[in-house]
Amino acid sequence: MPKTTTEVLPANAGGIARAAQLLREGGLVAFPTETVYGLGADARNGEAVARIFEAKGRPRFNPLIVHLDDAAQARKIALFNDTAERLARAFWPGPLTLVLPLRPGAGLSALVSAGLETVALRVPEHPLAQALLKEFAGPVAAPSANVSGRISPTRAEHVLEGLGGRLEAVLDGGPCAVGLESTIIGLAPGPVLLRPGGLPVEVIEDCLGMPLGRGKEGAKPSAPGQLASHYAPQAAMRLNAEAAAPGELLLGFGEMACDLNLSPSGDLVEAAANLFHHLRQLDALGAGKIAVAPIPERGLGRAINDRLRRAAAPRPAS
Ligand code: AMP
Ligand code: MG
Repeated sequence: MPKTTTEVLPANAGGIARAAQLLREGGLVAFPTETVYGLGADARNGEAVARIFEAKGRPRFNPLIVHLDDAAQARKIALFNDTAERLARAFWPGPLTLVLPLRPGAGLSALVSAGLETVALRVPEHPLAQALLKEFAGPVAAPSANVSGRISPTRAEHVLEGLGGRLEAVLDGGPCAVGLESTIIGLAPGPVLLRPGGLPVEVIEDCLGMPLGRGKEGAKPSAPGQLASHYAPQAAMRLNAEAAAPGELLLGFGEMACDLNLSPSGDLVEAAANLFHHLRQLDALGAGKIAVAPIPERGLGRAINDRLRRAAAPRPAS
C-alpha cells in the first residue's frame, strides 16, 4: 500500500482533536487502551475499515472489535440479553469484549464483522481511548495495531516499528497497563469464553455465578487452525523451560536465574504487563530461540499461557 507519514500525537487535547479529525477523514489512527494499542478506523466507513485489513495483512474473515465510549452507544449497535447486561454493568469500561447479535440497520461496514450476524463490542477504560471516542462520537473498529500474526503493541514505539508509514497517526499514551488483549465472551446466546485475556475468567464466572462454556475465537473457522500461530516473535519459542539450553535466552517468572524476568516476585499482573515488551526485547537481543519458564494456569496466567502457546505454535511458511 502507498506509504504515508505517520504523525506521533501527544496525549493532550490537541492530540486527541487531531486524532478524531483523522478518523473522520477516513484515516487510520492507533491509540492506547488499557489492553494493547488498537489500530482504529471509523467503523461505518467501509474504505477506512478495508485499510485496517490491508495495513495489518489481516485475513478478511477475521472480524474486528468495535470500540464505544459507553454501554448506551453499544446498545445502539447490538442486542443485549440479561447476561450481556450484567457483564456490561460489572466490567465496562474495562478489558472485556462481548460478541452480541448485530442490530439490523446499525450502520456498521459489513467488513467489521466479516459478514457475520454478530459483532464484537468493547468499552475501553484508558482515559485517552475514552477521550478519543467521546471526541469522535462514533464507533471505532480497532484490532491490535500490529502486523497480523506478530506480537501485539503495548507502546507507541511498537506500533511504529510494525506499521509505521501504513497509518496516519499514533496517539502516544506510553505503556499499556494490562498488556494483554481483552477477554472475549460470546453471548449469541452464550455465555462462552472465546478468548482468555485481560479480565480473568474466574472473575467473570464469579459475577455470573456459573462456569463459562468454551467456544472458538474468530468466527467462520473456515480454515481451522489457521490462526493457531499468532503473537509470534522472530525467535523460535520453547515453553515450560526450567533452564536455558545452549543458544537460548531464558524468559523467567518468579525468582530464578534468567535473561529477562516477567515478574521476579511471581506476580501475574506484572507478568501480563511485561509479556509482549519482553518478547520484543529478546528478539532485539538476537535470540535464536526463547525459552520460557512455566507460568501458573490461573488468573491472568491463563491468558499469558494462551498467548505463549500460540507464539510457540508451528508457523505458516512465508
Ligand atoms: P484483535 O482486536 O486483534 O484482538 O482481534 C479481535 C478478535 O475478536 C479476533 O480474534 C476475532 O476473531 C474476534 N472477534 C471479533 N468479532 C467476532 C465475532 N463476531 N465473533 C467471534 N469472534 C470475533
Ligand atoms: Mg490482534
